[in-house]
Amino acid sequence: MIKKIVTIPNKILRMKSKRIGFVDDSIRTMAENMIETTLDWDHDSEFGAALAAIQIGEPIRLTVVRDSFESSKDKNFTTLINPEIVKSSAEMITDIEGCLSVPGIYGKVSRHLKIKVKAQNTAGNEIRLTLEGFPARVLQHEIDHMHGIIFLDHVKDSKNLLSIDEEGQLSPLTSNDKVQLP
Ligand SMILES: [Zn+2]
Repeated sequence: MIKKIVTIPNKILRMKSKRIGFVDDSIRTMAENMIETTLDWDHDSEFGAALAAIQIGEPIRLTVVRDSFESSKDKNFTTLINPEIVKSSAEMITDIEGCLSVPGIYGKVSRHLKIKVKAQNTAGNEIRLTLEGFPARVLQHEIDHMHGIIFLDHVKDSKNLLSIDEEGQLSPLTSNDKVQLP
């Protein structure tokens, strides 16, 4: 079922998400709905890398992450329940990030280059992931959502904000771009 994506400045995005105690069918159904919602959001110039449950208004620690960030053709996702970062590299990397809850705006954000993540899968079993580069960035972004943090919070300077046009071209924000920073 396709859900409505919560966008800024909705205060729901500032809620802290609760740990999931038991992985049951309601959680698995919610993950399926989130995948469907992300695929429905995909369009010619952009596609969704991941979605956190809070983005459909559910304050629980659940995220779905695309298996490939190279192309929207790969429609497979990995569901992570109660993900937490157990180790992160001192080395940071800055790259461009966007969010389905922040339509049309991208920003340059510094993130840990490498992280180790502990989570549960949809069977409720513990899994551990070692991620580097963009996948590490995506997980840091999703775990931020679970703490009520959005990527704009990490953009210290508005000159690090970009807007996207219909062809998918990014350009620096101008005073004509209507941005409501939370
Ligand atoms: Zn996001």
